[in-house]
Amino acid sequence: MGLFGDDGSGTLLRSSSERRVGVLVNGGDNAKLRLVSHTDVSPFWPGEFTFCPRCATELTARVAKGRPRKVCPRCDWVHFRNPAVGVAGLVIEDGMVLMVRRGPSATRSGLWCIPCGYLDYGEDVRAGAAREVGEESGLEVEIGDVVWVASNFHDPAKLTVGIWFEATVTGGVLEAGDDAVEAEFFPLTHLPELAFETDAALLSHLRTS
Ligand SMILES: [Zn+2]
Repeated sequence: MGLFGDDGSGTLLRSSSERRVGVLVNGGDNAKLRLVSHTDVSPFWPGEFTFCPRCATELTARVAKGRPRKVCPRCDWVHFRNPAVGVAGLVIEDGMVLMVRRGPSATRSGLWCIPCGYLDYGEDVRAGAAREVGEESGLEVEIGDVVWVASNFHDPAKLTVGIWFEATVTGGVLEAGDDAVEAEFFPLTHLPELAFETDAALLSHLRTS
């Protein structure tokens, strides 16, 4: 059996001593999120590097800098994984919040979220938020202040740091697009079934602030 188990399940990462769970209060008692120092992510998810991107040698798993990682046995390249940046645009008009329903190709398909997506490499963070709102809802928006920042652990194969921005509609026509299949405004007090706990925490905070 290898260091992390034959199934590549990352046993070390699942040991209880690896987790320090507390309470993160991000804007009030109604917006509690788990604070996890290192969430239970395996270094062996499908789609991760199998071969060294520098020298093409097959990577092996070992503890490097205190955590299980994939390492190149030939050139010592270490795969330090980092979360991606997710950006979201929070549009609120007359107590109604813009939500989109996630399409079949999206994680948490069929559930609703604040328009969001991955920031592209080289893209300004606010431009990315405006682009995502436009692609998913058809609405052109002006991006304002940051309203929320949180770590998203819902997809352990692709962790993100989410940044939610205020967004004000400046044009466009409400129509779902890209990987959203519906786009609609909902009263903050009558929301559809939400895809992400981080959206839920933010919306809960907004209802009570
Ligand atoms: Zn290498």
